[in-house]
Amino acid sequence: MAGIEPQPGIMDIELYVGGASHVAGVSNVIKLSSNENPFGPSPAAQEAVRRVVHEMHRYPSSDHSALREAIGDTWGLDPKRIICGAGSDEIIAFLCQAYAGPGTEVIHTEHGFAMHKISAMAAGATPVEVAEQDRVVSVDNILAACTERTRLVFVANPANPTGTMIGLAELERLANGIPESAILVIDSAYAEYVEGYDGGAKLATDRPNVFMTRTFSKLYGLGGMRIGWGYGPQEIIDVLNRIRGPFNVAALTLAAAEASIRDTAYVEKCRTENARMRAWLGEALAEHGVSSDASTANFILARFGSQAEAEACDTYLQSQGVLVRRTTGYGLPHALRITVGDEASCRRVAHLVGQFKAGAR
Ligand code: PMP
Repeated sequence: MAGIEPQPGIMDIELYVGGASHVAGVSNVIKLSSNENPFGPSPAAQEAVRRVVHEMHRYPSSDHSALREAIGDTWGLDPKRIICGAGSDEIIAFLCQAYAGPGTEVIHTEHGFAMHKISAMAAGATPVEVAEQDRVVSVDNILAACTERTRLVFVANPANPTGTMIGLAELERLANGIPESAILVIDSAYAEYVEGYDGGAKLATDRPNVFMTRTFSKLYGLGGMRIGWGYGPQEIIDVLNRIRGPFNVAALTLAAAEASIRDTAYVEKCRTENARMRAWLGEALAEHGVSSDASTANFILARFGSQAEAEACDTYLQSQGVLVRRTTGYGLPHALRITVGDEASCRRVAHLVGQFKAGAR
């Protein structure tokens, strides 16, 4: 039949709907639905944007060299092996466009981040979902699912929305075990929240088949600016740069990111405060009979007795102006993902969950 049709498989992609930010009729919404930094961006980032705002008629740097150097300085990485994108989402898409396609397979995990599957399907590849073990990525299951058609293996570490992570030895076992045709992509969007963890940087330095993606959207508080980066073997960086648009990252964004990453005192404050309130929130929820796995990121996956209970709690929270994230689309219908906010927000959400559990709804 004649007509304008998208490529095969595109209409099978489920629409990704981002976390809500408004509640009708409520003005002071507490937004704990998108894993944003409750303290916002560094003041230095805001200042940097003000400095360059009058130049918005100019195209931005096309090689992002200043930002790549700032990232390299911060993490001890070779700037030549870094690529910047409009969020790590864009780096994930580049990887799929460049390495996957019709007839190939892309592995993602059971409760893994939605964009791994979406980008694989957008590239025409077959997404292969691999079961986790009690909401933790299973290296054995991934290795068993690999075939000669596997091109990419996505593992978010820490994972979203579970908040769990696997150790470096497990990542290394994965890198050793995947087929030669495949790249292990360690999606490290939340790595900065984990004390002493390099996000897989060393593995991506040493191995020809390991790539790491990172973001400024979480700890650095720049979700609205859309800036992420990837790091790995020079060969992969050279491939990805061929499909990257020359001006894929906006000038204001580059300025904000560079200033943010250099403001180490601010970053440290945000990290410490997140760890403190994450522990507090986990305990407060447990006291109200809501269990969660020990989270390593900036959110907690709160587990309820049933889907109906999780949905009713979400509805109650919304009615009180608190937004959290339903995780039904992640195969976790009985849970709600709650971003660790500032102290007042954490106290508020815990109090409301307590009220809900006590039957005041
Ligand atoms: N990976 C994971 C695991 C995430 O949770 C997110 C954000 N939700 C991203 C990647 C993408 O983040 P961004 O595009 O904002 O860098």
